[in-house]
Amino acid sequence: MIEPQEALRIVLEKSPRLAAVEVPLPEAVGAVLAEPVASDSDLPPFDKSAMDGYAVRSADLARLPADLAVVESLPAGTAPTRPIQGGTCAKIMTGAPVPEGADTVVRVEHTEWLAGGRVPCSERHSLLQVQGVRILRSDLPQRNICLRGEDVRKGETVLDAGRVLRPPEIGLLASVGRERVRIVRRPTVAVLATGDELVSVSTVPGPGQIRDANSWSLLACCRRAGVGAESLGVARDTLDHLGDRIARGLERDVLLVSGGVSVGEWDLVPKVLRDLGVTIHFATVRMKPGKPTLFATHGRGLVFGLPGNPVSTIVGFHLFVLPALRRMMGWADPAPPTVTATLAIGAEVRGNRTAFVPAVLRWEGETWVAKAVETRGSADLVGFSRADALLALEPGTHPAGTRVEAYPLGV
Ligand code: AMP
Ligand code: MG
Repeated sequence: MIEPQEALRIVLEKSPRLAAVEVPLPEAVGAVLAEPVASDSDLPPFDKSAMDGYAVRSADLARLPADLAVVESLPAGTAPTRPIQGGTCAKIMTGAPVPEGADTVVRVEHTEWLAGGRVPCSERHSLLQVQGVRILRSDLPQRNICLRGEDVRKGETVLDAGRVLRPPEIGLLASVGRERVRIVRRPTVAVLATGDELVSVSTVPGPGQIRDANSWSLLACCRRAGVGAESLGVARDTLDHLGDRIARGLERDVLLVSGGVSVGEWDLVPKVLRDLGVTIHFATVRMKPGKPTLFATHGRGLVFGLPGNPVSTIVGFHLFVLPALRRMMGWADPAPPTVTATLAIGAEVRGNRTAFVPAVLRWEGETWVAKAVETRGSADLVGFSRADALLALEPGTHPAGTRVEAYPLGV
């Protein structure tokens, strides 16, 4: 029997980082960037207005209110055609290029349109049908202009290899013209449920039968981790049937087997794995739930045997499988994140195993406060579904107020 931390260490050590592949941009979200990316242009590419309003010369704002002639209108996407001279301005929308001569944008809320009014202006403009605007106040010294290249210069690195690509990074890659990008390949995963008692979700269970929950929860865990997984269905508790399904699963990067890994007479998964030449690294972990958690490798492929109780299966996924998938996907720090929380109610852990207790975390001003949820044990998905975290509690007594380690389970 090994410690959970040691189990995680072994899992991560044996999880290979996968090779880089090029994918279209939308497929990259959730993946790790496998190349540094430089900008193909200055960002922003031109001096651009940050407000809807009027592009003016700040010298014209020395005395307010000031009436200015409007020489053109600049929606986003247009190029200015007239430089701004003293006494004039251009109507400008957010995102439009600031015309030459203007050095500040007065937001529209600080102006008044001079309906039908004309404004005295230079000879050149007096030839035009000139409309006027009254500037009531300004935001000076703030100029409401995003300067060319202030975010990044052409050729500068915007993302280093190793970055996890979230929606902001995807938007940034689009901004610098990357339609395709190199990422670390995501593992392929097969999910296999085992047990003669299991029937499909569409079947009404007969005597002694229950519906297969774990195929679905594990597929959901993988999907949320950004990894595609396929179900191999339910294997019967026979050496032949298990052997056939497990052999198929070994063709994937990762095989997740639920059930059949404890010490019962029909827990045949370890034997089948050995017969197929798979190397088992550990098969029992000093934790509760999840003592009969198995981890094995087959070449560069990984096999996890998770105990069949539905809560144990998900706990095992979170603590061991998710970090392995993330390591394979190139995450630098794939261990499940933890926070320190204060116990709201005292807890006692009997026996000699680390307990992973389903709990609710609430931020109470200065600290996370953890409250264990009522559950009837590792088969109780009803109780577990109310939890949003796992508390790691060592054997012994933990009075209210004790600081404990909590694993948020995500939303
Ligand atoms: P096992 O790990 O195979 O000994 O199973 C432990 C418990 O989990 C038993 O009560 C099984 O009926 C239950 N179980 C096993 N696999 C599943 C599954 N796929 N969905 C729901 N419960 C399961
Ligand atoms: Mg079973």
